[in-house]
Amino acid sequence: MIKINENYLKLQASYLFSEIRKRTDEFQEANPDRDIIKLGIGDVTRSLPKACIEAFHRGVDEMANDATFRGYGPEQGYGFLREKIAKADFQDRGADISADEVFISDGAKCDTGNIQEIFSTDIKVAIPDPVYPVYLDTNVMAGRTGSFIDGRYPGIIYLESTRKNGFIPDPPKENIDLIYLCFPNNPTGVTITKSQLKNWVDFARENKALILYDAAYEAFIQDDDLPKSIYEVEGAREVAIEFRSFSKTAGFTGTRCAFTVVPKSCVAYTGKGKTYPVHDLWLRRQSTKFNAVSYPVQRAAEAVYSEGGNAQVHALIQYYLKNAALIRKEIESIGYACMGGENSPYIWIDGKTDSWGFFDLLLKKAGVVTTPGAGFGKCGEGYIRISAFNNYENVQEALQRIRQSLSQ
Ligand code: PLP
Repeated sequence: MIKINENYLKLQASYLFSEIRKRTDEFQEANPDRDIIKLGIGDVTRSLPKACIEAFHRGVDEMANDATFRGYGPEQGYGFLREKIAKADFQDRGADISADEVFISDGAKCDTGNIQEIFSTDIKVAIPDPVYPVYLDTNVMAGRTGSFIDGRYPGIIYLESTRKNGFIPDPPKENIDLIYLCFPNNPTGVTITKSQLKNWVDFARENKALILYDAAYEAFIQDDDLPKSIYEVEGAREVAIEFRSFSKTAGFTGTRCAFTVVPKSCVAYTGKGKTYPVHDLWLRRQSTKFNAVSYPVQRAAEAVYSEGGNAQVHALIQYYLKNAALIRKEIESIGYACMGGENSPYIWIDGKTDSWGFFDLLLKKAGVVTTPGAGFGKCGEGYIRISAFNNYENVQEALQRIRQSLSQ
């Protein structure tokens, strides 16, 4: 008899975005004339930078010619892309990362979801609340938790991010083995300072723990004092893995390209306490289960680092940040407290009521789709997330409608 992995049954039935879609579709069906503006799901809306598209086309043309055709590429990704990443994203910022520590992938979602399988199932895992749901669900699937009770999974240590701690949790008193951190944060939009991040690195070093640092929104950091990478913090190479993505940086959500950095000095331990390089485990995992990303896509990603690409990516980020600034300013001006929106595309709003109630109100009265904070964890209750990924004109229109409906 074929049996299922019953851990899947512990997962909450309605994944956040399918519930949002369901409510939005129902509303649209009942009100076919209403024009709905979506500021909910964090998907980009603007086309790929010109330099990326040109490189993408050249890559496709090479595939049409026997002399330049490429079959399977290196499982870790092509050297031309890994070299550029190591230099521009790390070495130029004083972070000691080399090309062979960079693993190209088809998304930070897959990597942040898959990475946990190289660690034992009986480790203690700490996950921020609220946070991007993939970290929690993949640990549930792997059997590291009990059944969902009262909004929580027993077995997980929740790092509560609330207004009280500025939505940045401190390291806890108890022992933890694996720590997920995400900055700039999805959904709260907050960023972490170097000294706050150093507290976590020190904690990991003292506890022989490992940090999984999701920096998918790093490109939105404008403030030079804020760390863009965890490797800008001394001592992080031994205790941290970092995830990056071209999705939000350069509009690759549909094209798919990301990367994960696993320093060669980063270690975990065997049951007997012997150190083991995590790089070897991830390389083994990726070369067994993954075949990297298509050649033209890696060429398109490489173009992000060209002179033209750099300027175009900068303009793209500035476009979304202009939306974010407007959203924050307008929502604050109608009397709602906001976080984020400064070095991040997300604005986290205290709705002064329950999350889904505020979501429904904005959908039905303003025709604007947002994301209920409760979908990101218990501590997200009472908040909604507004995303800056849309056209400026749509953002202006959405804010005007929100202002009208909230002052009625
Ligand atoms: N990490 C965070 C925090 C995200 O918010 C997202 C996407 O929304 C991802 C990772 C996934 O990125 P990718 O498109 O590279 O899979």
